[in-house]
Amino acid sequence: MQALEVCPRCDHDFLGGKAVVSGGMRLGYYRLHDKGPVVRCPHCLHVFKPENLRLFGFLHPDAVCWVVPAILAVCVGIAFVQKNWG
Ligand SMILES: [Zn+2]
Ligand SMILES: [Zn+2]
Repeated sequence: MQALEVCPRCDHDFLGGKAVVSGGMRLGYYRLHDKGPVVRCPHCLHVFKPENLRLFGFLHPDAVCWVVPAILAVCVGIAFVQKNWG
């Protein structure tokens, strides 16, 4: 799951996930910082906020606060079912 970013300065595209300068892909980042992830263009070293890069590549940052607990709840539920009926 890779998001292509286009540099606003030189119009080159590159993989945003590999050019993240500060946080962005770390869980809990958005709760600790107001600004989102920042990427650096590997071609001209221009630093800018990515348009396409999101946590996990497809989740909007605002959704993480409820998606992650929901996934954990599902995992716990599956473990509970397997323990009792497995
Ligand atoms: Zn360029
Ligand atoms: Zn560039």
